[in-house]
Amino acid sequence: MLVFRQLFDPQSSTYTYLLGETAGGEAVLIDPVFEQARRDAALVRELGLRLVATLETHIHADHVTGAWLLRRDTGSQIIVGKNSGAEGADRYVQQDDRVAFGSRCLMVRATPGHTGCCLTFVLDDQSMAFTGDCLLIRGSGRTDFQQGDAAAMFHSIHERIFTLPDACILYPAHDYRGLTATSVAEERRFNPRLGGQISLADFTGQMNNLRLPHPKLIAIAVPANLRCGRPENDSGPEAAAGPHWTHIRTNFAGLAEIDPHGLEEHIGEVQILDVREPDEFNGPLGHIAGAMLIPLGQLADRTAELRHDRPIVAICRAGGRSAQAIAILRQSGFADAVNLAGGMLRWHAEGHAVEGASS
Ligand code: FE
Repeated sequence: MLVFRQLFDPQSSTYTYLLGETAGGEAVLIDPVFEQARRDAALVRELGLRLVATLETHIHADHVTGAWLLRRDTGSQIIVGKNSGAEGADRYVQQDDRVAFGSRCLMVRATPGHTGCCLTFVLDDQSMAFTGDCLLIRGSGRTDFQQGDAAAMFHSIHERIFTLPDACILYPAHDYRGLTATSVAEERRFNPRLGGQISLADFTGQMNNLRLPHPKLIAIAVPANLRCGRPENDSGPEAAAGPHWTHIRTNFAGLAEIDPHGLEEHIGEVQILDVREPDEFNGPLGHIAGAMLIPLGQLADRTAELRHDRPIVAICRAGGRSAQAIAILRQSGFADAVNLAGGMLRWHAEGHAVEGASS
């Protein structure tokens, strides 16, 4: 079965697309964003998929790609356009190449115009296509920098996108109004820049007079994307706020968590905060040795009892209340706080020791 997700980066209004196949478990990401790489990797993991490649529709000017970071963290291949000028990719693709994930694949179509190297990726059955910044929903990408060429864009759209089946759903790299998808038939008819009877001359006349400001990040994003998103100092976003000790993962819900095995390894270095009620703490599930009991309802008023010099692992029965405890702790200035994934139920199920368990 095909897995498909549309992901959004609010900072740059970029859409990232996840395509996967449950049978083989392989997946690809189109246009991942550096700051969202952790989120995207968490989703791939939670869906039981394995990221085999990241693909770029073009060298972006408004955000840095997550390709390098995802390769470092998941082993995915970096795939970019042959004419992109990017260094450090694993594969360079051009018109008619295919990128496989499991038994499915994306076909590459060269659609220059926004940049000289823009690609559109078409799913094998032509039910969907990813048009990058070439064709947007009721619009098109700009053509006034990065070897942009309005006439080339007109030809790309008419000859390589509008020739797809009417029902093919089109997914752009951006939308600034929150629109998510369109189709070949509707863009051919209603696209105000080049649908209906609009000619090449009409289109280039418009495009050469758009008078858009330069993208804010262009001076940073383009050089970084020519390195496939590798930071100049080769480090990832670990420096960002939040826990940075090992075994911590941020899940797709955005919550930092540790699994029972990871906690066992770090148990001497952390504060264990149990936020259940006293009768649960001393009930059938017992508690972890050394755990401090502060029921969730009292936590906001009792954070002074916690130390600031040690990470906190919050625990409850199944991991839900402790997630809320993390939010309360963050508000009180405890940045190094993570959730025990699955709570005491999972701790028990995986055979870890408890004390004080009543039968
Ligand atoms: Fe772009």
